[in-house]
Amino acid sequence: MPRAVAGRRLRRRSIEASFQVGIAHHLSHRVPDQPRSPFPILCLPSPFLRPSHSLSPRSDQPGSLPVSDRTSSSSAHRAALCTPFHLHLQIPYTMLSAGARAFSALTRPRFTTASTTTLRSPAALRRLLSALAILEQRNGKLNQGSLSAVTAAAKLGGPVHAFVAGSNVKAVAEEAAKVEGVEKIIAVENGAYDKGLPENYAPLLVENIKKGGYTHILASATAFGKNLLPRVSALLDSQQISDITAIESENTFVRPIYAGNAIATVESTDAIKIITVRGTAFAPAAVGSGSASVEDGVDPKAESTTEWVSEDLAKSDRPDLSTAEKVVSGGRGLKSKEEFDKIMLPLADSLGAAVGASRAAVDSGYADNSLQVGQTGKVVAPQLYLAVGISGAIQHLAGMKDSKVIVAINKDPEAPIFQVADVGLVGDLFEKVPELIEKLKSA
Ligand SMILES: Cc1cc2nc3c(=O)[nH]c(=O)nc-3n(C[C@H](O)[C@H](O)[C@H](O)COP(=O)(O)OP(=O)(O)OC[C@H]3O[C@@H](n4cnc5c(N)ncnc54)[C@H](O)[C@@H]3O)c2cc1C
Repeated sequence: MPRAVAGRRLRRRSIEASFQVGIAHHLSHRVPDQPRSPFPILCLPSPFLRPSHSLSPRSDQPGSLPVSDRTSSSSAHRAALCTPFHLHLQIPYTMLSAGARAFSALTRPRFTTASTTTLRSPAALRRLLSALAILEQRNGKLNQGSLSAVTAAAKLGGPVHAFVAGSNVKAVAEEAAKVEGVEKIIAVENGAYDKGLPENYAPLLVENIKKGGYTHILASATAFGKNLLPRVSALLDSQQISDITAIESENTFVRPIYAGNAIATVESTDAIKIITVRGTAFAPAAVGSGSASVEDGVDPKAESTTEWVSEDLAKSDRPDLSTAEKVVSGGRGLKSKEEFDKIMLPLADSLGAAVGASRAAVDSGYADNSLQVGQTGKVVAPQLYLAVGISGAIQHLAGMKDSKVIVAINKDPEAPIFQVADVGLVGDLFEKVPELIEKLKSA
């Protein structure tokens, strides 16, 4: 988040009393442009979490909604005052006793904002900090998407090691050794880790983290990373920092919250920071001229209570949705699976694009679940995102609004998608898309 918007930063007072209970009153630090909430907000910091978080309006992001739209509901207003790391309750002011108000006044909140973080010199960082990036492999092949964790780890400034486990892991380790910026690969050869089951993978990782004395553990926010790191965090009694999009310092990170409608800058005081990394914010590190050493990791051979039975993977010759340069997504406007296939697949082929879909299209059976883009689907940030018959609900925007160029085709000129689109075409998709395909073919 640029410092330029710091003036508009929504300051939230972290309330710290001996047992950390306080009242963040809305009068003194309400969201800009917002009506006052008739209620004060009671923030109860979680015992697991840190008090030093700040929130900023997303005015720096292209395609973001105006502040008033983002935070017009009282729940969003509350959300802006209490970070997700705090439980928040709303109670009528009149219910607060005079004693409680006096307590609130006495336990004056202490400001701790991310900007107070001390930045260390590169030499000090190398001494104090070491990062472990968790890499993914499938059938002996390195998952390139998992290299986003290396990119993020390198930004911390200290040495970067990478971890990989599975059968025939040597080939993966050798490929990973060529990744630029990695000093050492920790590899564990054992087929029990092939499927990345968190039940046995988490204890494996914990042993290797302890042995290496790492301060930062990073994995991509993929299904694997999101499945694994919460267990690792629990085992290490550390608070996970999820889905980061930027690193401000070795203990301060930026992450979207509320479907990307607010950006939280969070500071962690945990000795070991467990972090998942948003792939669209950190380009995968290049496999190139690196020459990391490869070392065997420790294998605790923990028993897994879960057994891998089978998998049914969607196969496609088209580019992978998560990493494609171009994405064409279809929505409920397509009306049926037949029309979705008839319209969207030739459009994707004519552009060399991956196919995506809105949740409504997925729920209606027009497209496979793996194609869903949005808050509960995949987050994409291609060069070109073409939305066809998609209204632009906030949950859909959460998955694609960082795309470089957004094009929308919709028959409703008032459709919200046009608010974020760089190029909009108002018209019937059943006419416009075939026309577009013809033009692309003849171009
Ligand atoms: C907790 C939660 C999580 C969610 N997660 C996601 C998510 O991850 N991804 C997601 O997409 N949604 C998600 N949703 C659902 C989301 O709120 C919307 O319901 C959904 O995105 C709507 O999909 P849609 O735009 O395809 O359908 P609609 O909103 O029905 O829009 C269809 C659009 O097609 C247009 N149209 C119709 N016919 C034509 C035509 N002939 N030519 C041109 N345009 C036409 C209409 O004008 C309309 O704008 C979530 C909702 C919740 C509550």
